[in-house]
Amino acid sequence: MLASSLRTIALATKGFMPEAEGDALYDAAHLACDSVPGAPMVEVGSYCGRSTVWLGGAALERGVALYAVDHHGGSEENQVGWEWHDPELVNSDGRIDTLPYFRATMRAAGLDDVVREVVGDSHAIGRAWSTPLAMCFIDGGHGREVARGDYEAWASHVAKDGLLVIHDVFERPEDGGQAPYEEIYLPAIAAGGFVEHSRTGSLRVLRRVMTH
Ligand code: SAH
Ligand code: MG
Repeated sequence: MLASSLRTIALATKGFMPEAEGDALYDAAHLACDSVPGAPMVEVGSYCGRSTVWLGGAALERGVALYAVDHHGGSEENQVGWEWHDPELVNSDGRIDTLPYFRATMRAAGLDDVVREVVGDSHAIGRAWSTPLAMCFIDGGHGREVARGDYEAWASHVAKDGLLVIHDVFERPEDGGQAPYEEIYLPAIAAGGFVEHSRTGSLRVLRRVMTH
């Protein structure tokens, strides 16, 4: 279980990670670190650092680094006029900037050493990445091309026995957007060498059983 001081911080942080799914993320991170000892983890889509607290707490306990990838400009659905817009996150230039919030969350949680912020486009960063990962958690943009690009840029970096964890996976269109399901979850199982390990809410934990 995530320490209660960190849980309090996670639950007070703006974001989209429900408590039960955060707990499942934390358990998955521990499992991943057991399966691929010493390897780092990546989070794609940190926003203000809410999910990062659960992952970072596990990384701290296991002595591995967590790379938190986000351009901090918000996804399409976070922009003005969209459903998930928060006007408080708009800076003096009129743009969304979650980086100050992310930094404040990491500082409050005492995770600023173990969590390394990586600010930029997740596709470009993933394509240039070379270190095998114990776990990759994908919770970035939910447009089709963005989701597909995250799958293509990141899934192959998960080491054998490591975990690919995907948020906002909805099998039925009436429950939510289909991009994480159709552009990440399904290709990972069909061609990426992954099998489903567990599910909690819209969180899917996949394990890599084959590398190509
Ligand atoms: N995991 C967070 C929520 C993430 S919201 C939580 O638990 O609350 C999705 C994030 O993905 C946003 O912060 C947005 O800036 C980021 N994002 C979307 N597309 C991106 C891209 N192509 N590259 C980098 N970050 C991206
Ligand atoms: Mg999400």
